[in-house]
Order: sequence, then structure tokens, then C-alpha cells
Amino acid sequence: MENSNWVKNFYQSLEAKKDNFLPADFRFYNIARLPILADKTYEFSSSCPDCKSNITLLNELLDNLPECLHQYHTRKKFEKTRNQIELHLHKTHNLRYASYYTSLYTLLGTIIGCISGMIFIFLAQKKFEMNIVLIFIAIGLISGYILGKRKDKLKYKKKLQI
Ligand SMILES: [Zn+2]
Repeated sequence: MENSNWVKNFYQSLEAKKDNFLPADFRFYNIARLPILADKTYEFSSSCPDCKSNITLLNELLDNLPECLHQYHTRKKFEKTRNQIELHLHKTHNLRYASYYTSLYTLLGTIIGCISGMIFIFLAQKKFEMNIVLIFIAIGLISGYILGKRKDKLKYKKKLQI
């Protein structure tokens, strides 16, 4: 089992490698988020065997950066491993990305608003008017955004964000 400084070392090693990255790669592959994944994985590793083995995977990822991004084959492997770690945190430990619910609920609100607008027109037996549908869409969108934002904040407070 790694010592408790593992997360700190992970972060520092990545920082030390930062200059070797192409800035576009660093942004595109969201490398800055790796330490967050490492932090959460470490947190759960004492009770979760998957997270424990993911620590080894994270070490491998770090070792191979940034060179692994330069070749198609190794880049695919990097993405696959990283997705696997993220998916595990998402599914098993209920972690979500920073604006996960804001995006999701805004989209749902828009769809629900659109459908509600059509139903309203149908029930009110009015002639189809786009303006009415747009008003419903706006209400759905704004409500979705507010609810999503609130839920994201809650996840953030509970430290359940990656
Ligand atoms: Zn786990």
C-alpha cells in the first residue's frame, strides 16, 4: 500500500512534467484533472479493491506522460485507462463532473418545456404558435439550470465531484 503522500507526489511529479507537454495536449486531454482522479481514487482505495488497483494504473499513466500522447496506439491506451478510472468513480462511488447536473437538467428542462408547450397548445385548442412553445422552453431551460446548479453545489459540498 502506498503511503499517504502518494497523492501529493502524484501532483508534484505531474507539475514537474508540465513543461514537456504541448500546451494543446495538456488542455485537450484535461491533464490538470488527473490529480483530482488520483485524490479520489486514493481516498476510496482503503475500502475498494478496484480503486486500489487503479492506483497502479494511475502510476503507469503518469510514468508514460506526456510521451504516450504522441503516438496513436499509446494515446488510445491512455484514454481507455483514464476513462475506465473515471467511469469507476462515477458508477461505484457516485462522483460527478463539476457541471454534470447543470448540463443534464438544462437539457432535460428544455425538452420538457418544449413538450409542455405543445401539450398546452393542444389542450387550450389554440392554433400552433411558436412564441408559446418558446416561452415554455425558456421556463424549462431556466428551471433545469437552477435545479442542476443547486444539485452540483450539493455534490461539491459533499466532496463528490471529480
Ligand atoms: Zn473504487
